Amino acid sequence: MNIKRLIRKSVRTLEPYKAKEIVCKVKLDANESPYGYPSLLKEAMKVKTNRYPDPEGKALKREASKRWKVPARNILLSNGSDELIYYLVTAFGGPVLYPTPTFSMYGIISNALGEKTIPVPLTDDFDIDIKKTEAKIKRYRPHLIFLSSPNNPTGNCFSEDKLLKILEISPAVVVIDEAYQPFSEKNHLPLLKKYRNLAIMRTLSKIGFASLRVGFLISNPEITEVVNRVRLPFNVNSLSQTVATEVFRNYDNIEKDIERLKRERDRLYQRLRHLKGIEVFPSEANFILFRTKGARTLHRRLLKEGVLIRDITSQIKDCLRVTVGTEEENEIFIATLAKLLK
Ligand code: PMP
Repeated sequence: MNIKRLIRKSVRTLEPYKAKEIVCKVKLDANESPYGYPSLLKEAMKVKTNRYPDPEGKALKREASKRWKVPARNILLSNGSDELIYYLVTAFGGPVLYPTPTFSMYGIISNALGEKTIPVPLTDDFDIDIKKTEAKIKRYRPHLIFLSSPNNPTGNCFSEDKLLKILEISPAVVVIDEAYQPFSEKNHLPLLKKYRNLAIMRTLSKIGFASLRVGFLISNPEITEVVNRVRLPFNVNSLSQTVATEVFRNYDNIEKDIERLKRERDRLYQRLRHLKGIEVFPSEANFILFRTKGARTLHRRLLKEGVLIRDITSQIKDCLRVTVGTEEENEIFIATLAKLLK
């Protein structure tokens, strides 16, 4: 019996997403928040363990709808925004266009589902190359376009005029992935009123709740209804729904921590900027990209010292990405980095 022979063609050469657990002292590799909120788990004790979750997530949608000022029927819930990418590609199919480097799941999921991908390289300053993008849109007529704003792993937001141009000219569903929006000044929700082909993804993963796996698609009923056709029943479990609802009810506290983290990011940026041999890129997210010679070796040596960050060298030459942690974690990272650069 040869199992290999049975594998779907598009999965034969597929590499899984690399999310390994590595033991370390300071974990700054996965763009998680350094702040946790155990007190918000209290409500979860009331969950009826024997009952299926609310299939529509009504309470959670109600709170999200109040916070973002969009009708609840324009929101679809998911088990993390990764799952939304799966649903979007399943529902709309390819070609799937996205600028690169960007979040790898757009490509991994599209490939797994056997859809054509159209990666379009960013310019040297990590902005959308609008000429190339326009040409590819005309040539391939994608069904889906993914734009991460702020972009992972570069940390910047794309120029607004280029993003709008893509929305205007594309006969595609344009997905703006706002996973890092809480750390940026830009918010594309108001554009939903104008563009029927726009869908926005949000997540709780970066603001302290990666463990819950809760993502949101915010669009118009025409699009959410299509995505809902491929959504698995009960995709968001009751514990996550309950705690996520509490997140919105306590958002003022969480927002204070987001502001704290942004200040810490700007401080870390300045600390990096003053290190010799480091080129650091501005960030509107909760991580910072920087370039240094011998980045791959440096990454390994940092880990030997107990500091785990992300090696981006396979996507961008000589680049590493560090998640913003607590002041203490960031100081350990900087001190270790400074020592290794000597
Ligand atoms: N989009 C982007 C741009 C990301 O960087 C990530 C997380 N690495 C995700 C989506 C996935 O987030 P979630 O935890 O909601 O699946």
